[in-house]
Amino acid sequence: MLPDKKESFRLSYPRSLAYLALNSAFPFFWPPINRIKRRLLSPIAIKYIQISLTYECQCSCGHCGVSQYNKTNDKLTPKELFSAIDSLVKWGFGQIDFFGGEPLLDKNIYAYVRHASKKGIFTHLFTNGLLLSRENVHKLSGNGLSAISISFDSPDPATHDRNRNIPGIFEKALKGAEYCIQNKIKTIMSVYASESDILNGRTEQLVKLAEEKGFQFIRVLSPFKTGKFFSLNTPVYSKKAMRRLLDIAGDKEFVKLHGISNCYIPYKTVAYISPYGEVQPCSMVPLKFGSIRKEKLTSILVRMRKHPICNIKEHGCVMNTAYLKNNFFDKINIKEQAFPMPVEQLVFPPETNSPRQKE
Ligand code: SF4
Repeated sequence: MLPDKKESFRLSYPRSLAYLALNSAFPFFWPPINRIKRRLLSPIAIKYIQISLTYECQCSCGHCGVSQYNKTNDKLTPKELFSAIDSLVKWGFGQIDFFGGEPLLDKNIYAYVRHASKKGIFTHLFTNGLLLSRENVHKLSGNGLSAISISFDSPDPATHDRNRNIPGIFEKALKGAEYCIQNKIKTIMSVYASESDILNGRTEQLVKLAEEKGFQFIRVLSPFKTGKFFSLNTPVYSKKAMRRLLDIAGDKEFVKLHGISNCYIPYKTVAYISPYGEVQPCSMVPLKFGSIRKEKLTSILVRMRKHPICNIKEHGCVMNTAYLKNNFFDKINIKEQAFPMPVEQLVFPPETNSPRQKE
């Protein structure tokens, strides 16, 4: 276990007894048992944890959501990360998303994937695709990687390369996707779609490309008011772009829209651990609720879940809500503030709008 933890969260005695009995009989992740574990662990059990291994990346994308974060040399050590993965298994979490920056820049990624997947955890990696050589994909697959999301900005290789500032990255990422599919890794195309991408047909062309190449599905992300987009005024689509996007998505299961009308945070299905151990509601929300170096993750989650930020009733990405505008963007000087900032530095009143509809 990690040192010097204060633990404020306690399960009731009968619940902890039931959980301990179940966990010792089924220490690994198994969906039907995990559902019962999560119920027993309520309110701390959530579906998946994003762990960022590094904020380093070969690209410098215009829409990067983590570019504003402080970078230091004080990253979690492999020992701390293995220990964090062990405690996630113990607490019944079913999925780890390895995030960045670019997680493939961390040479220990294969060991982390193996450590988690051997314990039954669904492992999912988010990458720009540059390092997806045949050999690396084979290693990922051999170590049990369950799914991979590869990001694409444009169906036009030259535009994608220009946006990433790396010549040839489009072709490498596409070839890498082919290796992943051959190795039976669930392969997802992750696409950032601006208003003009949608209206000029680029998003639709990417959907077609993903279908042709055999991706499992495509995730379309809207612009979030975060990272390099902190100063965006209205990061929402016009009615025309929205109609076009809904047409493209149609009722196809293949196209999954994210952050447009839905967000995981109010449903409490996600939490994020930064490369330095800071715990945030998700990678895009630059507010930290504690550090796994100083406190148990479960205690931090209990506090975070009760916080108004995790109970916003507006639709869409939390970062784009009027609530965040009024209580975060209008209260701080973005240019002078270091991120992620401690949530205690701001006062967030309870939200009072109409209840959020089901996703
Ligand atoms: S705040 Fe919600 S919609 Fe926005 S990136 Fe995070 S989970 Fe997705």
